[in-house]
Amino acid sequence: MAKRRRFLALLSGTLASTVVLTGCLGNPQGSTSAGGGSTSAPAVSNANIETKTISLGFIPILEAAPLVIGVEKGFFAKHGLDVKLSKQANWGAARDNVVLGSAGGGIDGGQWQLPMPQMISEGAITNGKKVPMYILAMLMSQGNGIAAADAVKDGNLTVDLAKSSPGFFDKFNQKEGRKFRAAYTFPKANQEFWIRWWLAAGGVDPDTQVELLTVPTPETLQGMKNGTMEAFSTGDPWPSRIARDKIGYLAATTSQLWPVHPEEYLAVRADWVDKHPKAAVALLKGLIEAQMWLDKPENKDEAAKILSSRKWYNVPQEVLAESLKGQYKLGAEGTPVNDPKLGPLYWNSDRGVISYPYKSLTQWFLIEALRWKFYPGTVDTIEQAKAITDKVTREDLWKQAAQEVGVPAKDIPTGSSRGKETFFNGIVYDPENPQAYLDSLKIKK
Ligand code: CA
Repeated sequence: MAKRRRFLALLSGTLASTVVLTGCLGNPQGSTSAGGGSTSAPAVSNANIETKTISLGFIPILEAAPLVIGVEKGFFAKHGLDVKLSKQANWGAARDNVVLGSAGGGIDGGQWQLPMPQMISEGAITNGKKVPMYILAMLMSQGNGIAAADAVKDGNLTVDLAKSSPGFFDKFNQKEGRKFRAAYTFPKANQEFWIRWWLAAGGVDPDTQVELLTVPTPETLQGMKNGTMEAFSTGDPWPSRIARDKIGYLAATTSQLWPVHPEEYLAVRADWVDKHPKAAVALLKGLIEAQMWLDKPENKDEAAKILSSRKWYNVPQEVLAESLKGQYKLGAEGTPVNDPKLGPLYWNSDRGVISYPYKSLTQWFLIEALRWKFYPGTVDTIEQAKAITDKVTREDLWKQAAQEVGVPAKDIPTGSSRGKETFFNGIVYDPENPQAYLDSLKIKK
């Protein structure tokens, strides 16, 4: 009885957080304006730029932190830009709003999973309507994870499924009479890439041995609780939240899968950037300063406090602080981890600066899309992937902004490649030879 009461209490707690999340993400299309222009916003300096405003969309996960901090700490205002941030109901709404543009009541750009900006540019996810965009900076690296339900605790799912859970998926499917279900909130972008990479590296074919499904964000916590899915790919702070609410456990962090991997990006409509090149540089100057600020250990608690407010994420401050500091409970046993290098990274890393939009990294998402044949007719060859990468990724504006804001020359990359990338299991992505990477992957379409 006591057990049942505790379960009900947990459940109602879960429902409460689900409702909060719905409130967070459930704004109508066009959404509410938060931040920029509010009374607490710092005064906008009188810079010589083509426009003083830009409207950007965000999703309340840690990837958006540099945008929120840029507004709240006055980094954008300092460079003459009033950044209006509007919370997007979901990724599909963000896509639809950027097609509208701010002139049509939508947004000029914002936070994106890749390859959304590339595919919006090509019309591949916008019913053929091509809206050219530019990727201007990486917002954050790492800070994402794969959560697994408590119902599959016996599977002991870890980053290395081949070692921790051999044969588990087939056994599960046999026992349950259905396939293991793995979910994400938006298809054919980061979240789906991470879960597919994880499964395939463990010898599990994501197209035949599991069922992949899209679950709306507000339904994720409840879905994991009631068995809609056994695993879920998401961004901080949700994997931590799932562990904290005892709904499941964090099977793997994406930082284990691929240390310092590319995560989400800032991208803006090309017509806005072409019309306002100085304002685009001002936007990047503010972003770079916000990312530098966010990465300092002494600022993490203040960042958590700012982000936790109702206006922004509406999530308990301590949950955000844990995620920002790289404090996780990892695996079925919930082993405590306290390592900032495993958590979200905004500026510094073992691989150099995070923010710079290396073409070698934006290209990877198109190569991975090629692996799974996600965008037939748009990304069918490596040559097409390269051409789209060159067209959509703008490294020049970032470099100019970094110079103007006083980033030391040693921190400003000179080329378009971060070099070879190595995954946890030794698989190498050499941006100079994507075919060798594709050939080295056993499971693909
Ligand atoms: Ca993410």
